Formats: sequence, structure tokens, C-alpha cells
Amino acid sequence: DDRISRISSSIRVIADFPKPGILFQDITTLLLDPKAFKDTIDLFVERYKEQNINVVAGIEARGFIFGAPIALAIGAKFVPLRKPKKLPGEVISEEYSLEYGTDIMEMHVGAVQAGERALVVDDLIATGGTLSAAIRLLERVGVDVVECACVIELPELKGRNLLGDKPLFVLVS
Ligand code: 5GP
Repeated sequence: DDRISRISSSIRVIADFPKPGILFQDITTLLLDPKAFKDTIDLFVERYKEQNINVVAGIEARGFIFGAPIALAIGAKFVPLRKPKKLPGEVISEEYSLEYGTDIMEMHVGAVQAGERALVVDDLIATGGTLSAAIRLLERVGVDVVECACVIELPELKGRNLLGDKPLFVLVS
């Protein structure tokens, strides 16, 4: 698919960001290429439009950029999963481990209903810790997480293993 090669070549790789030894995958250059950005959204929409998904849950912050247009195109609601203390209403929280320490992900109570079908969207999966926290958060309130979708996977980190049997769809490995 020549759309995939355009998307792949629009992603910039920056060495030693945010710290020495890390090769950061920078999706802001994908956003500067309107065709690559549109192709990215179209590929996800083609996959999810006929799957009766009611909820697209986007992970702060780059998951918002891709998740919101997917939600609009497939006729689903968009639910932001946010860093702590950002959401003004009552929240449900899920803690997860980072390389050093832990972080917390929050969602508004009442944003989703038990039995709804959700797609979780982020820009990139590395260790899988972030996506697996999102899955736990949604499943705790009875939501059926159908799949996770990312633009980029770093396969050497084996993040898929942390997702158990949950399907993961990525555009670029
Ligand atoms: P994980 O929890 O899978 O280890 O890390 C994934 C999270 O970290 C995602 O929310 C993603 O946005 C962010 N992340 C980690 N490394 C990178 C990277 O190289 N590029 C981008 N764009 N995001 C990254």
C-alpha cells in the first residue's frame, strides 16, 4: 500500500529525545503532510466503519489527534483518557507503571456505558503499559474493548504481549 509508505516516510525520527539513547518517533511531521494525515485517518476509518463501534477512546495527548477524526468519521462518540487532574468532573482512575515510577489515567464517570463497544487510539505503542491501562479502565466499567489502534508500533519492545488477547492494529512497525 503506497499510503503506508507515505505515512512511514512522513514520520521523523529524533535521536536522544526526551533523553539520551531514545530514538523518538515524531508524528508532528506526519501532521504537516495533509495527504499522509488524511491517509492515516482513512486507513483506520476503512477498518472500523462497519464494526458497530460506539466509543473511540483517545489517549492524551497524541491519541486525541488521531482518535477524534476517526470518531467523527465512523459516527462514534469521542472520550478523552487524560492525565491526572485535567478532567473537571467526577473521574475513574487507573494507575500504571512507567520505566521509573507510575502514572495515572483518568476518564469522566458517565462518559461510557456498560456494553458499549470501544476502540482505543494512541499514536504509538512501546511497552504497551499505556494501552493496557486504557483497556483496564474501560473494562472496569463494563465496556467491550474491541481493538486498539496505533499509527506506530515499536515491535522490539513486545508491547503486544501486555495486551493479552486484545487485538492491536498498527499502520507502521
Ligand atoms: P508505552 O506505554 O507503550 O511504553 O508508551 C506509549 C506511550 O508513550 C504513548 O502514549 C506514546 O505517545 C508515548 N511514546 C513513547 N515513545 C514514543 C515515541 O518515540 N514517539 C511518540 N510519538 N510517542 C511515544
